[in-house]
Amino acid sequence: MFIGHFAVGLASKKAEPKPSLGTYFMAVSFLDLLWPIFLLLGVEHVEVVPTAASPFEKLNFIDYPLSHSLLMTIVWATLFAGVYWMLRRDGRSAAWLWMCVASHWVLDYFTHRPDLPLMPGGSALVGLGLWNSATATVIIESAMFIAGIYLYLRATKAKNKTGTFAFWGLIVFVLLAYVSSLLGPPPSDVKTIGWFGLLGWLTVVWGYWINKNRVVSEQ
Ligand SMILES: [Zn+2]
Repeated sequence: MFIGHFAVGLASKKAEPKPSLGTYFMAVSFLDLLWPIFLLLGVEHVEVVPTAASPFEKLNFIDYPLSHSLLMTIVWATLFAGVYWMLRRDGRSAAWLWMCVASHWVLDYFTHRPDLPLMPGGSALVGLGLWNSATATVIIESAMFIAGIYLYLRATKAKNKTGTFAFWGLIVFVLLAYVSSLLGPPPSDVKTIGWFGLLGWLTVVWGYWINKNRVVSEQ
C-alpha cells in the first residue's frame, strides 16, 4: 500500500491536531522509511519480478523482518510514541502516533501477498493479497486518499499561499509517484530501489513545511 498510508496521516490531523503533519507522515510510513536503509545495508532483501501479473507485485520481498514483522512494528511504534512523549509530554498524541505506526503493518497485511513475518526468525508469513487485484487496490486506496484529503482540509486551513501550494504540490507528487510505480518499468536493481525508497523522507520534510504554513481550523 502507498497512498493509503498517506490517507491515514492526513486523516489523523482531524482526529488529533497537535502533532505536525510531518510527524504523522513519518509515523504512517515509518516501516517504509526504515526499509530502504536496511536494504542498502544488505540486512533485508528484495528481488525484482519483471514478469509479475499485477503491477503491485513487481517486487518480491524476500525477507524484511526488522522493518516489517509484526513484533518489530510494535517495537517501532512504541519507540516512536515514546520519543514523542518524552519531547512533548502529550499522552493522547503519543497514543495516536503509536496507532499510526502500527496502522502501516495492518494496511500492508491486507495488501501484501503472504510475505509479512510475525517476528524476526519466525517462519510464519502472512498477508491477504489485495495486490493480486490491481483494480481493487487502486479503487480502495484512492477512496482512502480522497477521504484523507477531505478530512485534512476540514481540519486545517492555509495561513498563506504557501500553505495551499505546498499541500496540493505534495498531493500531486505522491500521486505521480504512485502512477509511475504502477505504469513504469520495474526498477533495475536493488540499489536503485533503496535510493528511491529514501525519497520517502522527502515527504516527511514536506509535511513539516505544509504544517508550518497552515493552521488548525476552529472545530
Ligand atoms: Zn510497508
